[in-house]
Amino acid sequence: MNAPLPVEVLKQHLIDPEICIRCNTCEETCPVDAITHDSNNYVVDPEICNGCMACVPPCPTGSIDNWRLVVRAEAYSVQDQFGWEELPQEKSLPLDAAGADDAAQQVAADPQAEPATPPATLVTPGAAVPPWSAAHPYVNLYTHKTPITATVVGNYRVTGADTESDIHHIVLDFGEQPFPVLEGQSIGILPPGVDAMGRPHHARQYSLASPRDGERAGYNNLSLTVKRVTQDHGGEAAHGVCSNYLCDLAKNDTVQVIGPFGHTFLMPNHPKANLIMICTGTGSAPMRAMTERSRRLIGTADIGKLMLFFGARTERELPYFGPLMKLPRDFIDINLALSREPGQPKRYVQDLIRERAAQVRGLLTDRNTCIYVCGLKGMEVGVLDALREVVVQSGEDWSILHEALRREGRLHFETY
Ligand code: NAP
Repeated sequence: MNAPLPVEVLKQHLIDPEICIRCNTCEETCPVDAITHDSNNYVVDPEICNGCMACVPPCPTGSIDNWRLVVRAEAYSVQDQFGWEELPQEKSLPLDAAGADDAAQQVAADPQAEPATPPATLVTPGAAVPPWSAAHPYVNLYTHKTPITATVVGNYRVTGADTESDIHHIVLDFGEQPFPVLEGQSIGILPPGVDAMGRPHHARQYSLASPRDGERAGYNNLSLTVKRVTQDHGGEAAHGVCSNYLCDLAKNDTVQVIGPFGHTFLMPNHPKANLIMICTGTGSAPMRAMTERSRRLIGTADIGKLMLFFGARTERELPYFGPLMKLPRDFIDINLALSREPGQPKRYVQDLIRERAAQVRGLLTDRNTCIYVCGLKGMEVGVLDALREVVVQSGEDWSILHEALRREGRLHFETY
């Protein structure tokens, strides 16, 4: 009598719905379109995922790095995963499961280990590692199940009152509770109430606009830059649940916070490190944090050059315009790209990068330089094109430099 065929085991890739902040990074990164989402969860299609790991390093929370051994024929479907509120328990496998031992070893392999670096051709244009000298970030100290309560100690508008862009600077204080952060990290805000399906709202992610030692140096507080969302990407009227909640907060209100998140978009920590910062609108939040960190180090550390490219519709819609313009010119080289300033030609950040080619090239070829790009998704291609042109003009090979920038954690993108 023939022996029954052994059952095939799959090391199934899953996303932890309790930690995921629905930032869409994994879906954008996946080179084979195995990741999708509905209004509840981000999920991985077991029929498509090839375990390439490209999505793992960019995930700011680590929720992406979950695996279960399952009998292949019983893999959790996309529909199963859409309905989850938490990951299922491990199931025991049949004794005759083929490859179970090998797969188990892979799943058990040091869960705290750094995520594997995916093949270069599969990843986004930015680095999957932080700059070598970045300080150690803490992540996921507070989760959906264990959020921390912060108190609003400031909330004011940082754009002209007569403009469409209602952008707020919001300061949250954590009192005696530990909440260690670094510039470039983000937090999640849990808006109160429930969605159309009656489920609690998911967390929304915001970058810190303040440096590691607080919005006010020495205080256990941080700031966010939040634009009130009144339209969707297509220009149709839409009410942003979390942005409106945040912009309407009053002093002494409390907010549920999770995080911190992010382990790569971090600033270098060594002397003479240069920063090229390229942003649009509220994407200026991490640039403000890094600039303020550097400013506070003046006189105590050997800081390098800071070059900022900042895009906004008009001067009055550019958050923090007043304080920014007061910074000394020998501390930061500021380049404003205004796209709708009456009487002026439309300019984008990439136009200014081209105009300042000699200075940008000089910094790019210095191994102490790190580049940060944050803001609208659409700027990514334009900025990369401009950087490439700047390098190619001087007879250098962009692909070699680009690869080095990524490998050395010197080129970072955070775009939405
Ligand atoms: P916005 O006002 O819509 O746009 C800012 C500027 O970027 C405008 O001058 C705009 O020009 C220009 N722009 C449009 N397309 C561009 C392109 N392809 N290349 C270069 N510049 C372009 O910006 P916003 O509403 O503040 O949005 C900023 C983005 O940052 C949002 O997507 C937000 O999610 C993201 N973000 C926010 C945070 C945070 O913590 N708050 C953190 C990270 C990222 P036009 O005149 O052509 O529109």
